[in-house]
Amino acid sequence: MDKWVLKKLTECFNCKKEVDQIIEIYANQAFVKCSNCGATRYYILRRVGVEDESIIEEEKKKEHKYEPWFLEKNAVCFNCKKEAIQDIAITETKMIVRCRNCGFTRIYQFHILEIPENK
Ligand SMILES: [Zn+2]
Ligand SMILES: [Zn+2]
Repeated sequence: MDKWVLKKLTECFNCKKEVDQIIEIYANQAFVKCSNCGATRYYILRRVGVEDESIIEEEKKKEHKYEPWFLEKNAVCFNCKKEAIQDIAITETKMIVRCRNCGFTRIYQFHILEIPENK
């Protein structure tokens, strides 16, 4: 599959500047990288399956340490191969990508945080 690239303008938890956070989603992993300081969160695919929309709704209701992000992307689904809205939920512990057409869901688990040293 092609990687998906999204951006979210928000305050970086590391450099505290309001800048684009670059989100790259691949079949087996995903990254969130600050366009200013380069702090990068890595997520690894943990499981796939068909889920109902409550998996996204639950994240919206849950208490989070950091404000979770909810994004949408119109893309060709990994599973049903149709172009459909993909709901993307990003929290400090996981990333969830779900197709609104077929319910196919990829759940990525937070893996590591890398903060480049200032030079
Ligand atoms: Zn930053
Ligand atoms: Zn689908």
